[in-house]
Amino acid sequence: MRKNKPNSLYIHIPFCESICDYCDFTKLQYFRNFAEKYLSVLEKELSNPELNKDLKTIYVGGGTPTSLEDDLFLRLLKAIDPLSKKAIEYTFECNPESLTLSKIKMMKEYGVNRISIGVESTDDKVLKAINRHHTFSDVIKAVDLLRKNGIDNINLDLILGLPNVSEKMLEKDIKNILSLSPTHISCYSLTVNEHTVFSIKKISPPSEEFSYNAYKMINNILINNGYEHYEVSNWAKKGKRSEHNLTYWRNETYYGIGLGASGYEDNIRYRNTTNLNKYLNNKNIREEEIVTIKDLEEYQIMLNLRTDEGLDLAKFLNLFKYDLYKNKKEVIESYISSNYLYIENNVLKATFDGLLILDKIVIDLFR
Ligand code: SF4
Repeated sequence: MRKNKPNSLYIHIPFCESICDYCDFTKLQYFRNFAEKYLSVLEKELSNPELNKDLKTIYVGGGTPTSLEDDLFLRLLKAIDPLSKKAIEYTFECNPESLTLSKIKMMKEYGVNRISIGVESTDDKVLKAINRHHTFSDVIKAVDLLRKNGIDNINLDLILGLPNVSEKMLEKDIKNILSLSPTHISCYSLTVNEHTVFSIKKISPPSEEFSYNAYKMINNILINNGYEHYEVSNWAKKGKRSEHNLTYWRNETYYGIGLGASGYEDNIRYRNTTNLNKYLNNKNIREEEIVTIKDLEEYQIMLNLRTDEGLDLAKFLNLFKYDLYKNKKEVIESYISSNYLYIENNVLKATFDGLLILDKIVIDLFR
C-alpha cells in the first residue's frame, strides 16, 4: 500500500570543473555533451506525475550544479520549477568560482532561497594544495553578489583535518568565515576514502584528539557568536537550520534523483546507480534496502541523536512498542553519568562530548 509521499527532494548534478584531491562523492569532469544527455534524463524523471508537487524542501547538490553552462543551468531550473512552487527551502550547492551573476539571477527568478558554498579552507595555499580552484577572495565576492541580488540564506562549508592545517589555522578559518556572517556553517571532518588522491598519497584523517580539540574550539567560537549547534557538524543562526537536512535526521522520507543519489520512499532506502552510462541509458538499476521495523528503530536512534531535537522516548515507545529507556536503562544511565547523554522532557539527547562518540553510543543502544 502506498504511504505518504515524501516532502523533500534531493537532485544530484555530478559534474565538476575539476576534481578535488579528497573527494569521494559521485562526480565526474564536466563535458557539455554528457551534461546535455544527463539533463534529458533528469527532465524525464522530474516530470514523473507520481512525484509530490507540494514539496517542502528541495536540495540540488553534487558534484557542482553551477558547473553547468548558463543555458543548461536554466534547463535544470525549468525542469525543477513545477515541483518548487510550495518549497519553503530550495537550496543549490555552488562553488565560489562558478557562482556568476547570471546564475544568481536565474536562481532568484526560479525561487532558490538558500545557497551552500564549498569553502573548505580560507587559506589560498591550502586550497591550491587540495586542487580547489578558488581563493578566499572568490568566496567574499560570491557572498557579496548573492546578498546584493537578494539571496541571504547562505551556508558556508569547511573541512576539518585537511593536511598541514593546524588548530591555529582552523581558528583563523572560522574567524574568516564569521566575518562573512553566514546564516549557517557546516564543518565536516576529513575522511580519506579509497581511490581518492588523498588515499594514493597516503594522507591520514585527523586524529581523534585533533578532531576533539578542533570541534570544541570551533563550537565555542560559534556559540559565542550567536550560532546554535544543532547537529554534530552543523551550526545555524536562529531560524536558519537546514530544513532539508533535518528531513534526513528526523528519519523522514525523501526522493533521490540523479546519478548516485540516495532516497527513502515507503519502506525502501535506495541508492541510484553510480554508472553514468547506465544512468544515461535509462538503466538506473538502484541498490535497495527494504527497511524492516528493526531497521527503522535503528535509523530512528542513529539519526535522531545527531541533532539537539534528540530522540523522543515516548514517541519511540508509541512507534515501536519498545520502551528504550526501560530496556537500556543501565547503558543510558551510564552514559548520563559520564556526561555523554542527558534526558530533557523525556527526550534523550547527546551532550557535545556525546556527539563526538555517537557511533559507539548508538551501537550500545541497539536491541
Ligand atoms: S567540487 Fe565537490 S564534488 Fe566536485 S570534486 Fe570537489 S569536492 Fe568533489
